[in-house]
Amino acid sequence: MIAATQSNHPLAGVRSAPTPASLIEAGCARLRETGFRITKPRIALLEALAQLERPVPIEQLHQQLTKHPCDLVTVYRCLSAFERVGIVRRSFLHNGTSLYELSLGNTAKHYHIVCRRCGGTERVDYFPVEGIERMLRERGYTELSHLVEFFGTCPRCASPARTAAPTIEVPATPSA
Ligand SMILES: [Zn+2]
Repeated sequence: MIAATQSNHPLAGVRSAPTPASLIEAGCARLRETGFRITKPRIALLEALAQLERPVPIEQLHQQLTKHPCDLVTVYRCLSAFERVGIVRRSFLHNGTSLYELSLGNTAKHYHIVCRRCGGTERVDYFPVEGIERMLRERGYTELSHLVEFFGTCPRCASPARTAAPTIEVPATPSA
């Protein structure tokens, strides 16, 4: 007998995401609006960010640029421009490494929980600090930003049966 279908499937909570093409389009639009030229390295970087769909370190983005390779300094400058105009959001690992991800098509602020063991990251869509920003604005502070990251051990790493990713059991029946 097969046990009841598992309801805690890891993909159960996945939101419908924008397509990579629409993200690249949105990134180019943002560059145009803010007076930046649309160059080959910038498009290549947008493509890489859209495909990776998660916060990644600069070295990984650099390696991803196989079609239009460019040097690390160019990648760094592009990312810095992207960050200024709100195309990417930067977050940090507990060792201080910067991670970059697209922040297009999603205006809501979010944080990350980073697993200390496997380095996996997940979004945390809860932003209780907005009230603090408002209060600081009322005190006269401008150009506010803040940094909140969470670190922990993910359920997969904490599980004693951490031998493999969850799989659906298929009964060993001969094909009829
Ligand atoms: Zn983990």
